[in-house]
Amino acid sequence: MPHTIAVVTGANKGIGLAIVRNLALQYPASRFNKGPLLIYLTARNSQRGEEAVQALQKDTQLKKAAALQNEGGLTSITYQPLDITQTKSIQELRDFLKKEHPGGIDIVVNNAGVALDGFDAEVVKKTLECNYYGTLEACQDFLPLIKPEGRLVNVASMAGTLDKYSSALKDAFQNAATIPEVTKLMQDFKDAVAGGEHIEKGWPGSAYMVSKAGMIGVTRALAQEEKERGGKRLINVVCPGYVDTDMSKHRGYKTPDDGAGTPVLLALGDIGGVSGEFWHEGEVVGW
Ligand code: NDP
Repeated sequence: MPHTIAVVTGANKGIGLAIVRNLALQYPASRFNKGPLLIYLTARNSQRGEEAVQALQKDTQLKKAAALQNEGGLTSITYQPLDITQTKSIQELRDFLKKEHPGGIDIVVNNAGVALDGFDAEVVKKTLECNYYGTLEACQDFLPLIKPEGRLVNVASMAGTLDKYSSALKDAFQNAATIPEVTKLMQDFKDAVAGGEHIEKGWPGSAYMVSKAGMIGVTRALAQEEKERGGKRLINVVCPGYVDTDMSKHRGYKTPDDGAGTPVLLALGDIGGVSGEFWHEGEVVGW
């Protein structure tokens, strides 16, 4: 029976795949290592998901790390379907995890995301559906499954910082202490774009930027809720840096393994009990 259970979303390629790989590599030396690790590599497409698992099974460095861990047991990586824009898919994974792991899971990394070209009401809708609403739904469904000392990590971006907003909107984001308040800001943005007045209203012309600002805001709100319940789960949000992946059209200067660095630190590392913060390059940064 595995001791530690981790789930990574959008993990068939790019940073998500590297997060799975680096969780497996760093787990043996981590504070979580009290027995075997099982990682659910999730993806919305089963072929892409299964192929990613097969590629990791052939990874020499991983094979060595798994062998090193033989005394405590092997790390296993297995595919599970998850499309974060489909409520049914999120619920199916939630129910599967509940059934398979009645004692709870340890780590969830919400990495899945999209960056669509162009800017109109449709692009805004699709981007927010995935990067904001879908990720939030995954947080809300998976968080209750996470053990009391576990971790939730959301992958946002420095593009989600607030320097391109009017000062009124910047204040509104920073003062939005609850999930409904952050979600209302997402709705305000959609309404402003639909009415052709997002510029007068102080919004940037990028659905991706706003979706990631929403993700930072809502992670703070989720962490605040956890603290108010007296919970100890650490809930943080991170920018992986500019990474060479399909999303960056391979313009990023970091390798996916480098991009996985801070997300994996937040999932496995000693972070001094910090929760509800936005991280970049291994440190808490301003929003
Ligand atoms: P990629 O485009 O390479 O990978 C994105 C992953 O998300 C893919 O596995 C994709 O699956 C998956 N995905 C997309 N939509 C869904 C969905 N509805 N349900 C489940 N999975 C989905 O991007 P990156 O690896 O670069 O990005 C990973 C994260 O890092 C994203 O959240 C991104 O915003 C963030 N980020 C990336 C930066 C960079 O420079 N690359 C910079 C800052 C942040 P599929 O293969 O099926 O499309």
